[in-house]
Amino acid sequence: MPYRSESDSRRLLRRLRDTLAEAGAGQERLDRITHIIADSMATQVCSIYLFRDPDTLELCATEGLNADAVHKTRLKLGEGLVGRVARSTRPINTANAPAERGFRFMPETGEEVFTSFLGVPIQRLGERLGVLVVQAKDARQYSDDEIYGLEVVAMVIAEMTELGIFVGESTSFAATHKNPILLRGVTAQEGEAEGHVWLHEPRVVITNLVNDDSKAELKRLEDAVEQLKVSIDQLLARAGSRDKEHQEILQTYRMFAHSRGWMKRMEEDIRLGLSAEAAVEKEQSAARARLETVPDAYLRDRLHDLDDLSNRLLRILTGQGSETGSEMPDRPILVARNIGPGELLEYGRRLRGVVLEEGAVGSHATIVARALAIPLVINVPRITTEALTGDHILVDGTEGQVHLRPDDTVTAAFRDKMAMQAKAQERYAVLRDKPAQARCGTRIRLKMNAGLMADLPSLPTSGAEAVGLFRTELQFLAREKMPKRAELVANYARVLDAAGGKPVHFRTLDIGSDKVMPYMKRPDEPNPAMGWRALRVGLDKQGVLRMQLQALIRAAQGRPLSVMFPLVATGSEFTRARDILMREVEREDRQGHKLPASLKVGAMLETPSLAYAPQAFFREVDFISIGGNDLKQFFFAADRENELVRRRYDTLNVSFLTFLQVVVDRCHESETALSFCGEDAGRPTDALALAAIGFPALSMRPASIGPVKSLIRRANLNEVSELIARVQARGLESARPALLDYIGTLVD
Ligand code: PEP
Ligand code: MG
Repeated sequence: MPYRSESDSRRLLRRLRDTLAEAGAGQERLDRITHIIADSMATQVCSIYLFRDPDTLELCATEGLNADAVHKTRLKLGEGLVGRVARSTRPINTANAPAERGFRFMPETGEEVFTSFLGVPIQRLGERLGVLVVQAKDARQYSDDEIYGLEVVAMVIAEMTELGIFVGESTSFAATHKNPILLRGVTAQEGEAEGHVWLHEPRVVITNLVNDDSKAELKRLEDAVEQLKVSIDQLLARAGSRDKEHQEILQTYRMFAHSRGWMKRMEEDIRLGLSAEAAVEKEQSAARARLETVPDAYLRDRLHDLDDLSNRLLRILTGQGSETGSEMPDRPILVARNIGPGELLEYGRRLRGVVLEEGAVGSHATIVARALAIPLVINVPRITTEALTGDHILVDGTEGQVHLRPDDTVTAAFRDKMAMQAKAQERYAVLRDKPAQARCGTRIRLKMNAGLMADLPSLPTSGAEAVGLFRTELQFLAREKMPKRAELVANYARVLDAAGGKPVHFRTLDIGSDKVMPYMKRPDEPNPAMGWRALRVGLDKQGVLRMQLQALIRAAQGRPLSVMFPLVATGSEFTRARDILMREVEREDRQGHKLPASLKVGAMLETPSLAYAPQAFFREVDFISIGGNDLKQFFFAADRENELVRRRYDTLNVSFLTFLQVVVDRCHESETALSFCGEDAGRPTDALALAAIGFPALSMRPASIGPVKSLIRRANLNEVSELIARVQARGLESARPALLDYIGTLVD
C-alpha cells in the first residue's frame, strides 16, 4: 500500500524537503527522491519522467526499474500510459497496466513484472513538466486518497524543478526560466523593441512548500479566505450596480471564495502536508491544466476567474502584493495575460513594448498600443509562465515574434535590424519639412492619425500637415465611467492647442464592434462588426453624440473646427448627423458660446454603399475620408480581426483599386475633398498606388510619414497610374508585383 495515513504523507513530504535541502548534483537528488517516495509508500517502483521537448518524455530517474534505462527510455506525448497522463494531465490508475488501452511495453526498463500502475502529472501553473509514476507487482487499484497523496508529492517535485535544483539534467527543467526561447504570436502593432520583462502581475514566489503543523496551516488558510471574502465584498460594493460585467466577474469570485469543494480540496492538501500557499497553487495548477482542455469559452472564462482568485489568495498568504517591491527595469517590456486600455494608458510611453498571452488585434489594448506606437505582439502562448521580471527580451512586432532570454547571436542580429531602421528614420527626418511631391510634380498631403493627447507631439516631428483622423473613442474606452462634457471640452481644446493651428479632423465616437465602453449597456449581437456601431449608435441614442458635439464646438473657442462621422452607410444618415450638429451649433450660439470660425463636416466612407450615394450627398459633404480598414473588410467580406482571413485579400487587388477609383472620380466631379485614413495609407507601396489613382491626401501613423514621403518623392505618379491601367487591361488580379518591380527601378 503506497501510504497509510495523513501522517505518512506528511512524513514523506518532510523527508523530501530535507533531502532537497542537502547538497548534491541534480541527478543524485532525483535518484534520492524516487528512492524516498518508493520507500515511504512501500511500493516497488517510483519513476520520474520529464519533458525533453514539448513532445518527448524521458525517464530521468527510477527506483525499481533498470537503472540503464534512465535517460534512454523515451516516449512521445500521448504514447503509452505515461504519455497519456502527460497529455491529459489526469492520473491513470490501473490494477492491470498491460491490459490498459495504449499500454506500451518498454523491455529495457524491466517493468513487465509490475502490474499495477499509478501515474500523475507533474505540472506547475498550467506548465506540464512530466509524470510521476509508482508501480507494484501485486494487481491492485490505488485508492482516491493514494492518488491524491501522489499528486501532492508531484506538486512538491514541480516546485523543486521550478527552483532550478535539477537544471542541466533535462531540457525540460531548463525551459523553466533559463533557456533562450522564441515564441510566436500575432502582430498587433508593428515595430521592434529590446528591453527587460516587466510582469504586469508578478508571480507569487512560494518558498515554503511543506508544513510542520497542519493545524496552524489550516488556520492560516481559513483566515486568508476570510480576508479574501471581505475584499471581494468590498469590491462588489464599490462596483455598484452600473457596471454589470464587472459585477458578474466579482459575483463569480464570490461564488468560488465560498465554494466548499475548492476549500475542501485545499484543506485536504494541507492535511497531507502541504503549506497553505502550496495547496492554493496546487489547485490553481489543476485548474490551469483544465483550462487548456475546456473548449467552452464560458467555462474557460470561469476557470480564468478561479485563477485570478487563487492569485489574490496567494498574495494574501505570502504578503506579496502586486507591488513586489521590485523596481521597474530600464526599457521595460510589459508582459501580461491580458490588459485593459486604462491600465495600459497608465504605463503609457514608459513601455518599450507589450507582449500579451491573449488579446485580439481589435481589442482596446491594441488600439491604445497603436495610439502609443508601442510594438505589441499578442496571442503569445506561455509567455506569462516563461518570463520573469527582469528577463532580457526582444519584441519583433513586425514578425509577431518574441525572443525571451536571447543568446548573443540573436541579440546582435536584432540590434542590426533596429540600427538599420533607426538609420532609415534619420534619412526620413531630413525630409521632414519637404513636401511629398512626386517627380511628376503632383503634391500629396500627408496627415497623421491620432487618438490621444500624447500623440500630438508627433505632429511637428513627423512633418504631418494635419491630424487627418482623431479617434475620439480612446478617451471613452480608457475609463470606467462616461467622461463629463467639461472634461471633453478641456481635452479637445488641449488637442487643438497642441496642433498649433494645423487642422484636426475629429471623428465622433466610433464605438461598437470591438470597441466596447464598459459602462454602456449593449445588446448581444451575432455579428458586432456589422451591427449597432459608430454613427448608428449616435443616431439612435443622441445624448452622447450631442454632448460630444457641444464639447467640440466649445473647445474650438472660435477656431476652425472639422468634424467627421464614422461608418456613414447612406447619404441620409449623413444628412441626419449633420443636422444634429447644426442644431447644436445654433444652441451653443443661443447660449452665447463662441462659435467656430469655420466648420467642415465630413463622412467616413467605410461601406461600399456610400460610394454609390446620390450625387447630392457628394455635394453636401465637405470632405470624405476613406476608412480603409473597415471598407476593405466589407468589400472583401473578410473580418479585419480574424487572423484566418484578415490578410487574405490584397489592398492592391485590381477590383479594390477599381472600386476606389469610383470614389475618386465622384469626389472629383463634385469637388469634394478626399483622403484615405486606413492602416494601408501608411504602407509605402500601397500609399504610392493610392496617390497614383488620385487620392490627394493620406492619413497614417506618424512613423509611416517618412517612409511614404520618401517613396512618393522618388516616383512619378503618371508612370504608376499607367502601370496600374496596364495591369487592369491585362486582367491581372493584383497590381502589387508590377508596382514592386517599378519601385525596384527607382533611384534612392
Ligand atoms: C478605418 O476603418 O479604416 C478607420 C480608420 O477607422 P478604425 O480603424 O478606427 O475603425
Ligand atoms: Mg473604421
